[in-house]
Amino acid sequence: MGRLPFIAGNWKMNKTVREAVDLVRELKAAISGVKGVEVAVAPPFTALYAVHEELEGSPICLAAQNLFWEEKGAFTGEVSPVMLKEVGCLYIIIGHSERRQFFGETDETVNRRIKAALAQSLKVIFCIGETLKEREEGKTFSVMERQMEGGLKGLGDQEMRNIVIAYEPVWAIGTGKTATPEQAEEAHRFIRGKLERIYSREVSEGIRIQYGGSVTPENVKGLMNQPNIDGALVGGASLKAESFSKIVRFKEL
Ligand code: PEP
Repeated sequence: MGRLPFIAGNWKMNKTVREAVDLVRELKAAISGVKGVEVAVAPPFTALYAVHEELEGSPICLAAQNLFWEEKGAFTGEVSPVMLKEVGCLYIIIGHSERRQFFGETDETVNRRIKAALAQSLKVIFCIGETLKEREEGKTFSVMERQMEGGLKGLGDQEMRNIVIAYEPVWAIGTGKTATPEQAEEAHRFIRGKLERIYSREVSEGIRIQYGGSVTPENVKGLMNQPNIDGALVGGASLKAESFSKIVRFKEL
């Protein structure tokens, strides 16, 4: 059975509650009737509940951009998996490169967050990808290998059913520089091969691998035509219903 394409919008630290609700309202209209693609939006924490209410009855899924692994307690500023479930989240983005770069996220903390999310039956969008320096030094595959081994440590076949991997080369995020479809496909093929080595062919064939890094309505089709690219994690272009809905409707482009 083929993998269902999955397009997710990472809004990062953008949109007030009112702006977020307006955006999903517009988005619902812009993608109504689209079939054969799963869609998620990841607003900031403050807008999650209001967006959840606005999404009532809509097939668009709600995602959060991070979580903390403890259930509750003295962890000022953190948000737990249970709290995110309560406000309607289905997916959690974990290990985004901005969290790794600016907030000290490591493979080990990524792993703890992934396990905590899965333990609450949340699904995970697990982000990996190399920096420009690492690519130029020929370390692209070894970096991805380290991130996968560390981030997925201790997870079994059953748990992998709730994981989506997002390959996001750091040099392509928010820079307007997209990986070519061939560069992205090469990385995705590597990831799928690695999944097969860690788990099994069945697990690796079932897992969706999104590409992320300056995806736009102009380049999405070329990327989605690649056999191992199963979706996109979209930053900048997800902030407007017009561009995000075109990406969701990539089959019609
Ligand atoms: C992202 O934040 O995951 C991302 C891919 O951003 P952009 O599309 O803006 O490059």
